[in-house]
Formats: sequence, structure tokens, C-alpha cells
Amino acid sequence: WDEQFLPPPLRIDDQARAQKINARLSDLILTGATLRRVGEVFEREIERGLKEQPSSLQMENTYIPELPDGTEEGLFLALDLGGTNFRVLLLELRGGELVKEDVKQYHISDALRVGPGQDLFNFLADCVLDFVRSEGMENEKLSLGFTFSFPMKQHSILSGELITWTKSFKCGGMEGVDVAALLQKCLRARNLDITVRVLLNDTTGTLVAGAHIDPSVGIGVILGTGSNGCYMERASRVQHWEAAHERVHDVCVDVEWGAFGDNGCLDFIRTDIDREVDAGSLLVASFTFEKYIGGKYLGDILRAALAALTAERLFPAAPKPNALATADLSMFEEESMRGSWECTQATLTSACGTPVSAADALVAQHVARVVSNRAAQLVSVCIATLLRRMDRPYVGVAVDGSVFRRHPRIARLMDKYIALLAPKHKFSLLAAEDGSGKGSALTAAIAARMAARQ
Ligand code: BGC
Ligand code: MG
Repeated sequence: WDEQFLPPPLRIDDQARAQKINARLSDLILTGATLRRVGEVFEREIERGLKEQPSSLQMENTYIPELPDGTEEGLFLALDLGGTNFRVLLLELRGGELVKEDVKQYHISDALRVGPGQDLFNFLADCVLDFVRSEGMENEKLSLGFTFSFPMKQHSILSGELITWTKSFKCGGMEGVDVAALLQKCLRARNLDITVRVLLNDTTGTLVAGAHIDPSVGIGVILGTGSNGCYMERASRVQHWEAAHERVHDVCVDVEWGAFGDNGCLDFIRTDIDREVDAGSLLVASFTFEKYIGGKYLGDILRAALAALTAERLFPAAPKPNALATADLSMFEEESMRGSWECTQATLTSACGTPVSAADALVAQHVARVVSNRAAQLVSVCIATLLRRMDRPYVGVAVDGSVFRRHPRIARLMDKYIALLAPKHKFSLLAAEDGSGKGSALTAAIAARMAARQ
């Protein structure tokens, strides 16, 4: 049983070296028993979070009680903030189908990411102004969906406060500020007749966009810069409501699993390598689970693991800080699947500032495999736990994010591990591209439909 969780073995000629490397990396390899224990702790934290008891999981009510039914209509703006790029989109829906989509990407400087929150939101509104001008729509009345990919305390489908920044953002002065209201104020200050209709997380957008393709979708997952999931939970199990919900059966809950274990409940999987990655991150001791999985961190785990091997003379030199990105890890994986090592070797030679042999390249590919394998297992534990909790005959899992799209093996690994961890539950992973954009417009249309009924 446990064998199926092991990454493939390291194949180099020097057996003694391989053995020492395996010993040094052993903490990064999780057994089936450990993964099941992680699942049990996750389930307990879910229960506590839903009951508003102390938990590392926010289990936030998103106030989205229904999914697309194919009647969604209208022209919507969507903002996508939180990942690699900030995007502004214009989407048109007719009978639930997307008939028009214009997108523009804007770069957010590091200074804005860590400066005053007010400056960031002014910048977002400037981008919207630039976008509607380029569309020739600056005088039109428009509805907007704001995909804000950070943990929020939501009060309704269109209001919520940031709980904490994550990933590469750390703006000041945001405590207790309603992010939808702040965006609205900045848009009005630019004389734009744009109304913020919904505030949502990227996982929620992904779930909604996925459900639009396949009505059996009940879980939305992001595996990108950060990682998180949401799912349809029975409304009766959700304690926190600030809006009427008598007729609601299920409601979308944002788990915020990036913070799983921040209260110490998961310390049994934490390694010295993880501590080093955390210590070098922008928000230390926060969102520690995300730091095992997110694209913002996988490259750095690889770097730290190679540095650990170097310290024991098992690798020629430690890669320089920031010299390895998650894209490199994906490339190592892709190349090892083809049975070659030349690109890996060239990248390492430059990252370590010293010539690296073919055997060293194979070692680094093995480390990449170990790191990817653990990330896939941990995200699979979360999905498998949600599948067991939902207990439906079949659940579609909508997934998006740069790691899911670009890592050559992650989707297949997840398929395998989820099936091993939830053997009685049928599921399939569905790539839901651009949940943040399309999902945002669909959610704004659903909100309009709900409002019209009241
Ligand atoms: C945020 C989540 C988001 C995830 C993926 C995390 O850092 O807390 O809200 O869904 O990243 O973007
Ligand atoms: Mg995104």
C-alpha cells in the first residue's frame, strides 16, 4: 500500500552516494500512513472551522448558494488580482455562453505589492480606467466582478475584508477595510459608472466556471502561485451566516487550506528545509501549508534541498538564492521524463556558479521529483477529504493555476493519489482555464439572477 506513494528511486552509479542522498531527503517523503494522518487532521480542522471553533482553516462562507444554470446573461467587467499578473477582462454572456472576451494584463511593481493598500487600489482603478478607454467604454454603465485571491472575511457576496496578505503581497493599512467598497470608491473617484457586484476568491471562480462546463463539478482548486480549494457544503453545516438563507441547500465554502497547520497541528510533516523556505519568505510563519505546494515556493524548496545536500558534500555547490524557480523544477521533471539531463545540467551550472556533472543533474532531477511528489500528495489529501465529506456518487473537481497547467506530471500524480486516498469516491479532475475571469462574470450574472428573484 505504502509503496504506491513512493517517488521513483534515484538512479546513479555511485550507490553509496545514492544511499546518503536518500537518507538526507527521507523527511520529504511521506508514507501512506502519514498522509492518512494529515487527512484526519484536515477533517478535524474543517469541522472546527465550520463551527467557528479555533482552527487553522478559515472555512469562509462565500455566500454563493447556486451554480450556473445556463441562463446567465450580460456584459461584465472582471478583475483578477492575486497571482502572477493583474488582469482586467470584459466578458459577454448570452444564454450562459461566453460570446466575447477581451483581456489586458497589467504588471504590479514590487513597490506597489508591499506599499500602502490605498496606492495599490488606486493603481487597480487606473488600470480599469485604461482598459475601458481602450474599449471605448469609459462612459458606459457596467457591472464588475472582483476576483480577489486572498483570504477574506466575507459579509455577503459583495463585501469582505482581507484577513491577511499571502504570496507576494504585503500592503499596509488594510485592517478592517472592505476591499470591494475600497475598489468601488477608487472607481467612483475616476468618474466611472462601474458597480462592483460580486467579490470572490479565485477558487470560487474556478468552481463556478467548472460547473458551467460540467454540472457535476462541486470542488474548485487552485494550484498556482498559491494553493487553495472551495467546495459545496451543506448549508446546515455552516454556522456563519450574515445573510438570509432559508431556501439554500448547499453553499460554496472557501477552505483557505494554504493556512492549514499554521496553529501547529501539522508540525509532524515539517522539515528543516521547509523552515528555511518559510524563513526566507515575505510572510514568515504564515500560510505554511501553501509553502509545500504553491508555485511561489516549489523552486525554493528545490534550492534549499540541494543546499542541504551540498552541506553534506553530496552535491557540488548550493544554488544561489532565487536562482531556481518553479519553472526550472517543471523543466527538470519534463527532461527526466524524456530520459535526458542536458538542460538540467546547464541550468544548474549557472544557478550554482560551478560546473555540474551529468550525475549531479540526475540527482537534482530526483530532488525535483521528490518535491513535486510531496506537493501532489498534500493537495490530493485535501481533495480526497472533501470528496469523502461531500459523499456524492460522482464529483467533478475544477482545477486551475500555473503549476497545474505547466508542471508535466502534477495532474497525473493527483489523479493517482486522490484515487488511493478516497478509493470509494468517483471523481475527475477538470482543467477549468481562467476561472478567475470567466467565473467572475458568471458569478456576477448569478448574483443578478438571485437579486431579480427577491
Ligand atoms: C490565498 C487564497 C487563494 C490561493 C490561490 C492563497 O494564498 O489565500 O485565497 O485562493 O492563494 O490563489
Ligand atoms: Mg489566478
